[in-house]
Amino acid sequence: MLILRKISELRKFVEKQKADKKKVGFVPTMGALHRGHLSLISECKKNNPVTIASIFVNPQQFNDLSDYKKYPRTESADLKLFKEKGCTAVFCPDEKTIYPEPPLLKFSFGTLEQVMEGAHRPGHFNGVALVVSKLFNLVTPDTAYFGQKDLQQFLIIKKMVSDLGFNIKLNCCPIIRDKDGLALSSRNVLLSNDERKAAPELYKGLCNARNLLMKGQSISQAKKTVQGIFRNHSFIRLQYFEIADHKTLAEVKNLNDHENVALCIAAFLGKVRLIDNVFLKM
Ligand code: AMP
Repeated sequence: MLILRKISELRKFVEKQKADKKKVGFVPTMGALHRGHLSLISECKKNNPVTIASIFVNPQQFNDLSDYKKYPRTESADLKLFKEKGCTAVFCPDEKTIYPEPPLLKFSFGTLEQVMEGAHRPGHFNGVALVVSKLFNLVTPDTAYFGQKDLQQFLIIKKMVSDLGFNIKLNCCPIIRDKDGLALSSRNVLLSNDERKAAPELYKGLCNARNLLMKGQSISQAKKTVQGIFRNHSFIRLQYFEIADHKTLAEVKNLNDHENVALCIAAFLGKVRLIDNVFLKM
């Protein structure tokens, strides 16, 4: 497995693959790998003879400096996992390589970014779009793989690809969970023992609401039930629980008006912020 740190090395490598007419799949990550990331590599390898992953903790997408500073960084372990998983190459740029000078470009995603993560993390999706568009221009993959765990991010990248005309297919892969239901996240290692024990309640809350909706309960009842579970919780501070259209993220008022809906949650456990979601129709 090649470890590429410079743009020139990456370009040379990609040019060679294209000259050999090999399809290139791409999995961008911020490292601190878990089985969720590795599932994207498996999916990528199924359809591409060349799998390029990247590791870059993108400062532009952190609206909270302390979150950026404490974000886990485990590069040598990550490289080992990528190698075991059969990646062809990993791009590990430093900050100056990606941002030789502070970027001025601003993205705007309208209503897609005015809810949920976009509403609670100002500038987050601008940072995501900056880094993903840059990586797409450098890697020029045929297909890129993302997780449904970050559903809003996926929809925003999809819109960016369409608006900017990137010739890249996007693949949204299922959420990988621990045995107790907790969605795997690089931030899970930052949880205290008590917080980790409480964390699966986010997924349980989502499943609970989904069951209620499937049994015909109203949206407002399902919302109240979930909000009730977390009211006065010792370890979990709910930030939002939304029932949204799975493509536009518009608030759902009547289930019959939508092909599918996503139930999305974000909460703080101590200082650690976790997100999760489930689709009503799997
Ligand atoms: P990150 O390193 O957090 O930026 O995530 C890199 C990619 O892995 C993103 O496309 C995420 O949506 C995806 N991902 C993160 N957690 C999971 C998970 N539990 N299951 C599947 N994909 C995930």
